[in-house]
Amino acid sequence: MQNAGKFYIDGKWIDPISSQKMDVINPATEQVITQITLASEEDVDLAVAAAKRSFESYSQTTVDQRLGWLEKLLSIYKHRYHDVAQTITAELGAPTTMSHEQQAAAGVDHLEDFIKALRDLKTEETLYNGETLLREPIGVCGLITPWNWPMNQIVLKVIPALATGCTCVLKPSEFTPLNAMLYAEMIHEAGFPAGSFNLIQGAGPIAGASMSRHPDIAMMSFTGSTRAGKAITKDASETIKRVTLELGGKSPNIVFDDVDIEDRITFSVLDVFNNTGQTCDAPTRMLVQRSIYDDAVKVAKRVGDAASVGDPTVEGNHIGPLVSHIQYDRVQTLIQAGIDEGAKLLVGGVGKPDGINEGYFTKPTIFADVNNNMRIAREEIFGPVVVMIPFDSEEDAIKIANDTPYGLAAYIQTPDAAKAGRVARKLRAGMVRINGAFPRAGSPFGGYKQSGAGREGGMFGLEDFMEIKMLHKP
Ligand code: NAD
Repeated sequence: MQNAGKFYIDGKWIDPISSQKMDVINPATEQVITQITLASEEDVDLAVAAAKRSFESYSQTTVDQRLGWLEKLLSIYKHRYHDVAQTITAELGAPTTMSHEQQAAAGVDHLEDFIKALRDLKTEETLYNGETLLREPIGVCGLITPWNWPMNQIVLKVIPALATGCTCVLKPSEFTPLNAMLYAEMIHEAGFPAGSFNLIQGAGPIAGASMSRHPDIAMMSFTGSTRAGKAITKDASETIKRVTLELGGKSPNIVFDDVDIEDRITFSVLDVFNNTGQTCDAPTRMLVQRSIYDDAVKVAKRVGDAASVGDPTVEGNHIGPLVSHIQYDRVQTLIQAGIDEGAKLLVGGVGKPDGINEGYFTKPTIFADVNNNMRIAREEIFGPVVVMIPFDSEEDAIKIANDTPYGLAAYIQTPDAAKAGRVARKLRAGMVRINGAFPRAGSPFGGYKQSGAGREGGMFGLEDFMEIKMLHKP
């Protein structure tokens, strides 16, 4: 990639001030793909200054102008769809079928939906008391994204910023920086004004923290770990920025005894293995009603044993590697913790899958007879690891499900619609998926408790990037 060491600032690819480099590694081969430059505080200042200058005029553009650029971007994205999918396979290790059908597809779905939402956005309305409310872009936005769904996260932040008339500086994960560069090329080609979108690369504690502390950034939008979310919140507090956070999860999946066991347990296991378990709202804590628990364990074992791991460049529904050596070590540590705490290892375990010596591949793993106080039931593992916990009654299931510091998603498996609706209303989570229903683009994505603040996607996602101004007239 020709711009790999550069930043996109003020409408141009420029050489950074910093000379600090980092290798971008292909997690399936452990080979270096290219090198990026890690931004210094001075690089962040340059990018923020460009966004601040641009805000003067960009914030005054009309919705129709911005719709024009967004529609052009959508058509360019569709044209470069294959490049996006291939890049995500190379830098994240997502298997190519999954990269095409899910990872790259998110870039189309969210953009199409934001275009619809922007057409419906009310930037001016009369309140019930007769006064006038205006919605205006908040200002320069700092956007920090993770590596696990890289394009999905970029689109969920960059598009609402640009759609509402904000300008922005994006710092993607240093582990998956390349698809952000592709996106910068597309934004340039779509004709967005210079300085409205800026891209730097860098490490969280330096580039990310400089953004969070920057006095000219009005809002930080972050997706990633709860640890980094806390650091950003603290850093942003000095300048009273708006901070929106999409953080981790340990989502409960309540499987009631009236389900088709084969069907629902198969879904429940495979949904965790998708993206090598690196999905914040994956149903990682499987709570199974005791009367069907033994049968559910048998099905889970069969499904887990049949799951295959392999080369992400080959088509198919196999599991790819974890993103990095750091992530591999974290997952191994937590699998070992599960064994040490006495959970029953049903499938997988520590180490690489048989016959695989290179790449950050880990064994798909299922633990049974877990209790909710074990580390593997409390901490986000972010690997293909399922934990199975038995429960007795509806009340028992709700209590265990809510006994977590997180509150991103929750899952319910039952054909009984009344029971599903009743239980869903008692779960402390931002999204409840019943019988595997997939969230549609435009529905707000986000969580309760330590899973975050704010919502992404659709109209709610646009409004998060706006200030409210009241006009009081005599
Ligand atoms: P991370 O939170 O450290 O990284 C995500 C982004 O935050 C990256 O762009 C990183 O550079 C940046 N960042 C890190 N520290 C920062 C700081 N102090 N200030 C500003 N920006 C900062 O995530 P990770 O270390 O790559 O993964 C750790 C864990 O986070 C994973 O095991 C997983 O549990 C969780 N995670 C969750 C999500 C999610 O979608 N909720 C995504 C990625 C990781």
